[in-house]
Amino acid sequence: MNETFQAIKKALKSAKTALIVSHIDPDGDSIGSMNALAIFLSEMGLTVDHYSQDGVPHIYRFLPASELVKTRLEPNRRYDLLISVDASDIKRLGEKFKPREIAKLIINIDHHHDNTSYGDINYISRASSTAELVYNLIKALKFKIDKKIAENLYVALITDTGNYRYENTSVETFCMAIDLLKAGVETHSLTTRIYDTRSLSGVRVFAAALATLEVTPDHTVAWAAVTKEIMEKHNAKSEDLVGLIDQIRSIEKVEVAILFRQDADKIKVNFRSKSKVNVSEIARRFGGGGHIRAAGVTIQSDLAVVKQVVLAEVFKFMKASKYLV
Ligand code: 5GP
Ligand code: MN
Repeated sequence: MNETFQAIKKALKSAKTALIVSHIDPDGDSIGSMNALAIFLSEMGLTVDHYSQDGVPHIYRFLPASELVKTRLEPNRRYDLLISVDASDIKRLGEKFKPREIAKLIINIDHHHDNTSYGDINYISRASSTAELVYNLIKALKFKIDKKIAENLYVALITDTGNYRYENTSVETFCMAIDLLKAGVETHSLTTRIYDTRSLSGVRVFAAALATLEVTPDHTVAWAAVTKEIMEKHNAKSEDLVGLIDQIRSIEKVEVAILFRQDADKIKVNFRSKSKVNVSEIARRFGGGGHIRAAGVTIQSDLAVVKQVVLAEVFKFMKASKYLV
C-alpha cells in the first residue's frame, strides 16, 4: 500500500466522525464520489455527514445516499475529518462554512491537474474521475464494493468520461467498470436515467439556448449565451443545460466550445475543446480552472462584457497556439 493510502487508512482508523463535501454546482462525479465515500465510511463504522452547498441535481437524486445529502451544516458541529471530493481548490467547497474550523484534518481527493493540494492529506492523481480514485482507495483498504457504492461510482465514471467517449477513458476505467458491473450495476438502467430522462422544460430551455449559437467564420470556435430571461421563461435550473456545451463542441470543425450563462450578477463560463486546445489554461487566465478539455470560471460582470473579453482571449490564445481563427 502506498504512503497516501497508508496515511488515509490511519486517519480513518482514528476518526469517529467525518464530513464529506462535494464542490459547488456539483456534477455526477462529485455527487457519486461523495455518496460512495459516505456509504463506505458508514459501513466502516464512522458517523458520516455529506454536504453539497448547491444540493443534488435532480438527475442524481435516485442514487443511494443522495437522500441524505445535507445542504446546511449545523452551526456548531465539528468533525474529526473533512474529505473533499473533485474540488481543485478549497474555495470550490463553497463559502458557507470554514473547512479549517469545522474539522481537525482535511483529506483532499481529486483528479484535477491544477489541484492546489490544500489538504493535510492529498490524494491527487490523474484519472478519468475522482470516482476512480475513490474506487482505488476502497480496493486498497480491502473493502467490499456493494451495489449502492457501485451505482454511485458508476454514474460518476460515466458522467466524467462522457460515457467512455473522452480521452480520459483508459484501461483502468474499463477495468473498474467491469468490477462495478460484477457488484450489481445495471448499465442500461443507469444510463437511461442519466441520458434518456430529460424534463420537457429542460429540453425546451436547451433548444432556446442552442438558438443563441454563434460560430467564427472558420467554425473553429462556437458559443452560446444563455440569459437570465431565457432561464426564467423556462423555469430552468443550471442542471437543465448539462450536455449543451458538448453539443456545441460536437459541431464539425469546432475545436473550442464556450457556454456563457447569466446567473444573478455573475456569468458562469464553461469551456470545452475537442482535441488540441488546453482550455484549462484559458480559464486560469480569468481565475478559473479545470481539465485540459473541460474547464470553467465564474466572472462577476455583465454578459456582454464577459463575452467580449473571454472571446478576445480565446482568439488570442488560439492564434498564439497556431489554432488560427
Ligand atoms: P463544467 O463545464 O462541467 O461545469 O466544468 C468542467 C470542469 O471545469 C470541472 O471539472 C471543474 O474542474 C472546472 N470548473 C468549472 N467551473 C469552474 C470554476 O468556476 N472555477 C474553477 N476553478 N474550475 C471550474
Ligand atoms: Mn471530476
